[in-house]
Amino acid sequence: MSDGKSTLITGIGELVTNDGRPEDGKQGAFAAISDAALVIAEGKVAWTGPAARAPAADTAVDAAGRAVLPGFADSHAHLVFAGERSGEFAARMAGRPYRAGGILVTVEATRAASDAVLRANLRRLASEMLRQGTTTFECKSGYGLTVPDEARGLALAAEVTPEVTYLGAHVVPPEFAADPAAYVDLVCGPMLAACAPSARWVDVFCEDGAFGADEAAAVLAAGRAAGLSTRVHANQLGPGPGVRVAAEAGAASADHCTFLTDDDVDTLVSTPVVATLLPGAEFGTRQPFPDARRLLDAGVTVALATDCNPGSSFTSSMAFCIALAVREMRMTTEEAVWSATAGGARALRRTDIGHLGVGARADLILLDAPSHAYLAYRPGVPQVAAVWQEGRLVAGAT
Ligand SMILES: [Zn+2]
Repeated sequence: MSDGKSTLITGIGELVTNDGRPEDGKQGAFAAISDAALVIAEGKVAWTGPAARAPAADTAVDAAGRAVLPGFADSHAHLVFAGERSGEFAARMAGRPYRAGGILVTVEATRAASDAVLRANLRRLASEMLRQGTTTFECKSGYGLTVPDEARGLALAAEVTPEVTYLGAHVVPPEFAADPAAYVDLVCGPMLAACAPSARWVDVFCEDGAFGADEAAAVLAAGRAAGLSTRVHANQLGPGPGVRVAAEAGAASADHCTFLTDDDVDTLVSTPVVATLLPGAEFGTRQPFPDARRLLDAGVTVALATDCNPGSSFTSSMAFCIALAVREMRMTTEEAVWSATAGGARALRRTDIGHLGVGARADLILLDAPSHAYLAYRPGVPQVAAVWQEGRLVAGAT
């Protein structure tokens, strides 16, 4: 991704580097420098420090006092789908029942859609994310739920991101309603075999009404045997075994974590499992927000992600999730920005992104604001002026 030329971004009011050392517990440290500069070379961060001491480079950009942050790492998104469910959302917000709603509406639309329709929707969402500063995103299958539909969903996802997740175990499709065990066998057998070549991760929706502890453990074990790393939808709708299952499977992340027991929190503290919080889902369903303060104060590593999907959380905006995390979940602005960048990187087991230390991938955002706090301070306002990915300006203008 390099044109062989170096770029100096100088006049940075606040440069969020996230290269601080964790003080105690596992949560890494937000870190920032004021009156800073940064040099990009060969697609990577080559230098950071005070603007007054910046070395020369082939080209220079004046940030004029604005903030520069690592690109957002959105570690949880469901982007391979067709159709939309705004009617269901509006009815839910109005307190009305909506009988036709749910994941299966999207499954039906996705199965009926052409590759071209699915690809166009996926690319539109991917570019929407990039314009808003998300330089890395994860993408799940889970709306096909047949061998060919899951396999094509993952092949399409692999066109737009390396962080591809096989979620055949999203929900039991209606044709297996009478025999869910047979569906788990399909997910662990022929469907996995067809999907594993396109995927890095395997995920399971471990929840009452979806997949229980034993079924979830079987799906994760089969995925691991096929070379995939694991992540889990856990404890979203009520207390349950999701966090424990994630820890036992060596998962990178337990996602949602809305209803946790003290044992669950202890498990998250004592294992490398990241707790990925998805406040867009609580916003979109009027469920209680997860207790981020309890997790952070206990020393759990917390990530923030969008859960972008057409049912419960149709937002691709990490800035919106940061604002919710600060306002509704009592995260500090520093914690929320760390969780949306370095936290997401941890949830994806990536060390090359989520920070702007020397050697990191040059994925970064220029904000139209003097500090990261503006992401929560001015909610709903587009503030991403420019986005670089591997050192190339890919959205906006300086
Ligand atoms: Zn999800």
